[in-house]
Amino acid sequence: MVRTRTFVTLSVAVLVAFLILTAFYAVQESRRTREFIRDHELPSLGLAVLANLDRTAAQYHQAGDELLRYHFIRDWILAGEQDEDALREFLETVRREHRMLDAGIVSDRTETYYGTDGRTLVLNPDDFERDGWYYLYRDSVPETNIDAWYFPETGEIGMWVNVPIYGPDGEFLGVTAGGVDASHFGEMLEHYGSFTGINIYMARRDGRLVFVSDQRLLQPPAVTLGEIWGRDVIPELVAARDSGRSLTLQPDGARGPVLWGHYSRNWDTFVIVEKGAAVLTERARTSVLKSMLPALFLTASLYAITLGTILYARRRITVQARLLEALAGTDQLTGLHNRTRFNEIVQQETQRVQRTGEESCLVILDLDLFKEVNDTYGHPNGDRVLKTVATVIKTELRSTDTLARFGGEEFTILLPGTSVEGAYHVAEKVRRAIEARRFPEPMTDLVLTASIGVAPLHARTNRDFDTTYREADRALYRAKDRGRNRTEALTEELLNAISAETDQANRSTFIEEAT
Ligand code: GH3
Ligand code: MG
Ligand code: MG
Repeated sequence: MVRTRTFVTLSVAVLVAFLILTAFYAVQESRRTREFIRDHELPSLGLAVLANLDRTAAQYHQAGDELLRYHFIRDWILAGEQDEDALREFLETVRREHRMLDAGIVSDRTETYYGTDGRTLVLNPDDFERDGWYYLYRDSVPETNIDAWYFPETGEIGMWVNVPIYGPDGEFLGVTAGGVDASHFGEMLEHYGSFTGINIYMARRDGRLVFVSDQRLLQPPAVTLGEIWGRDVIPELVAARDSGRSLTLQPDGARGPVLWGHYSRNWDTFVIVEKGAAVLTERARTSVLKSMLPALFLTASLYAITLGTILYARRRITVQARLLEALAGTDQLTGLHNRTRFNEIVQQETQRVQRTGEESCLVILDLDLFKEVNDTYGHPNGDRVLKTVATVIKTELRSTDTLARFGGEEFTILLPGTSVEGAYHVAEKVRRAIEARRFPEPMTDLVLTASIGVAPLHARTNRDFDTTYREADRALYRAKDRGRNRTEALTEELLNAISAETDQANRSTFIEEAT
């Protein structure tokens, strides 16, 4: 009992320790997953986005520069902006060649817009909606600019490439405006943005969002980059840009999203790739489960197998012990009680008889000329005959009687509550049954007989089993002497003969000892 409890306590302790260890590794694993995403996965994706953006920008720059080739526009402005048809023809040729959506210029001298759409517009500094872009551009650094505009009504992004027009002395004459097809740009960013949990942001230095893959953020009222994570990340992005490096940020700590940011010179824009917190948590949880489940399963299986083996072994031991106990008292060939067991039973019965004064008898049965059976039919057939005889005797007895194979071809029967006359009667019944019994091939000719001796357990006081056995054996030998296949009970005459023999034996022993 104590051992079982020790075993259970120990195994539960081992199990718990194993689970704690597994959980510890699982947590480590989830941390490593997050670090891997932050240090490798996200930067790789960010650099891919950046490379694609730069390629697109290069195409746009080329289209913008094309408008300034041959100094046609410069000379046209310097010549006093005369022949509009010649200008439009030039613009249209470049537009078609570079598949621009439209192409135009603004002359700074007259603040006039000329475009392939056929319009000639005098700009109005007060109309910010329409013309603000020009004044913003003129007032800032006048180098090539790619401008993206989000149109909330259509959800489309428009792109303009502005290249400054300078005179021969470097004086600022105006700007070209090439409308380029932004569908590729939008598709490319949306493609990256469609990866689970990934968001892509493009923002100006002032935090104004140029593009976000989650376009809800572009709907008015538009948010700025500083408002998205509740922390202004622009200063950190600027610092990273100035040192020419990428920036990795976890603005909400180890449980929030992870950001990767880089400055794009071509776009004059910060590009930020974000991996959302929910996806990170999910990935971490999956990796935890993946590492924990097999361990859990293994532990549980091992535990079950160990427990099962122990329980099975314990049951087997119990069964074997019982079997051994049974075997110790059983005759292997016939399944009857053996001599040892029979002795125990008769000893108990002898005491009982002495206490209660009841009658009980011992019967010894020896098969006649059994050696011949072996000699004629072989030992294995002899064994078969012994088994048959056991069942034959058994069927003639009551359930309270005890039958044993005492050894060889000798059987003993204990008949409780039976007088010598009664026992003689039972013995005769058994004897006749054996004689009447036929045997299968090759022993069809065999007529087996038995000689039987009967002696009472109750005849005298202070009897022991040995005495009774000797008396029954004497009766048996009388049966053999008188021609076999008969029963003899212990008689007064036989008793006297036995005691005379015993006296004789005692005397000889005495003489032997004396001499
Ligand atoms: P009787 O008792 O009538 O004087 O003759 P017997 O031939 O039966 O007497 P004996 O005691 O000389 O021989 C007993 C024979 O029983 C000899 C032995 O080979 C055989 N025997 C004893 N035990 C077994 C057994 O377990 N199996 C078989 N087949 N034979 C056995
Ligand atoms: Mg014998
Ligand atoms: Mg015999």
